[in-house]
Amino acid sequence: MKDIDLLLLSGDGVGPEIMESAISLLEKIQSSFKINFNLIEGLIGGASIDAHGLPVTDETLNQASQADSILFGAVGGPKWDSLPPNEKPEKGLLELRSSLGLFANLRPAILFDSSLEASSLKPDIIKDLDMLIVRELTGGIYFGEPRGKKSSSAFNTMIYERHEVERIARVAFDSASLRNKKVCSVDKSNVLEVSEFWREVVIDVSKDYPDIELSHMLVDNAAMQLVKNPKQFDVILSSNLFGDILSDISAMLTGSIGMLPSASLDNRNKGLYEPVHGSAPDIAGQGTVNPIAMILSVGMMFRYSLDQLEISEKIKSAVSNTLNDGYATEDIADKNSKICSTKELTKIIIDHV
Ligand code: NAD
Repeated sequence: MKDIDLLLLSGDGVGPEIMESAISLLEKIQSSFKINFNLIEGLIGGASIDAHGLPVTDETLNQASQADSILFGAVGGPKWDSLPPNEKPEKGLLELRSSLGLFANLRPAILFDSSLEASSLKPDIIKDLDMLIVRELTGGIYFGEPRGKKSSSAFNTMIYERHEVERIARVAFDSASLRNKKVCSVDKSNVLEVSEFWREVVIDVSKDYPDIELSHMLVDNAAMQLVKNPKQFDVILSSNLFGDILSDISAMLTGSIGMLPSASLDNRNKGLYEPVHGSAPDIAGQGTVNPIAMILSVGMMFRYSLDQLEISEKIKSAVSNTLNDGYATEDIADKNSKICSTKELTKIIIDHV
């Protein structure tokens, strides 16, 4: 296998701490399997604003387009909160996703048995949860034009082109065909024309997938059902805005937002891999951040971009075994846990790989 050029964008807050965990894991994999990485570091978010005055520079965008894959920590924090939306650290991530055409965001929510107590839901409702949210990432209201703010009003535009809905629907149906063969498409078609259109296009695409069961749900009901009976879902397909909100609900189902990985893919499965959580400024620098979302994101990279399913499974099992042995960071700990720092938990997981 040729060397893999991997761009590391640590970002802000806890970003550099979880990136350290990812690098340790990659070093272990490099020494145990016949894979070589060229690790390239780049700037994004607040770190890029401080160095260059911009949340992302052309240099970083170039590095990202040249790289085989990208690992991303998190961006943002109070230091940059007063900047206008277009200059904030988060804008760097939106630009990066958009310039690379990363239209498909895959967010699995899997409950490890050891985290049953950490979830806010009752164990019988949540036990064995394994679902996937497929969220459209480069369209919809976050990118729609016109947008603006005046002193008396403000507006954004929620718009989807047919090809944008078609390609994300295909990702959802393809993913479901490798899982439990069910797609639930979430929209607000009782109120929004853009959602009515979304539903029509998803139904059209579903005709190419006769063995996948397609259902539709309004987003407000989907939020309720995720809390009431999350195990009814296999793959949830959603637009950018709705997926953003639903995936944070699913994050809490798994006990902590620190457990949730994600992949953002283009049409050739090149990907940016990142935890779902943000830069967690309240715990940054304390060495207590949960590295599991980042570690599982590395696992997703092996599965979706590097075609190394075996390594991906080994990483997932290593996390599961570590948790079963009772090790945990504070955010997922119960009264019986052996509480670890970020570095300690990372080492134990790596030892299990
Ligand atoms: P957050 O996800 O950073 O934190 C929410 C809460 O969860 C905090 O209490 C935090 O300590 C905790 N938490 C998050 N990740 C954790 C982990 N791995 N281990 C243990 N605890 C964890 O969300 P927020 O507080 O709303 O946002 C903070 C900053 O992050 C903001 O500037 C926001 O814009 C930014 N943000 C960035 C991204 C991204 O980079 N993709 C995503 C969301 C938010």
